[in-house]
Amino acid sequence: MRLIDADALIEQINGRHTFTKSAQEELEKIIYNKACADLITLIKNAPTVESKRRGRWSTRKGSLEMTCSCCKKNTIYDGRSSYDFCPNCGAYMYD
Ligand SMILES: [Zn+2]
Repeated sequence: MRLIDADALIEQINGRHTFTKSAQEELEKIIYNKACADLITLIKNAPTVESKRRGRWSTRKGSLEMTCSCCKKNTIYDGRSSYDFCPNCGAYMYD
């Protein structure tokens, strides 16, 4: 998982693309495909931000859920690996 600055990404997206209803269907498809490719590039190039929150997972015996010490929300433990970041609040999790 990689944390990104969603506000900065939205600003970039809003400043780059405008669509018109009068364009032909094929042209719209080309524009749509190009916009999707540009969005993917923007997401890949978005600056990674470091979470300032730090937390730990807690588990209950016999449960497949881990609880984040920061947001108190549960995440399903897949039995193979633990998350480095809480998918709910983005906190970095200590081992
Ligand atoms: Zn959390």
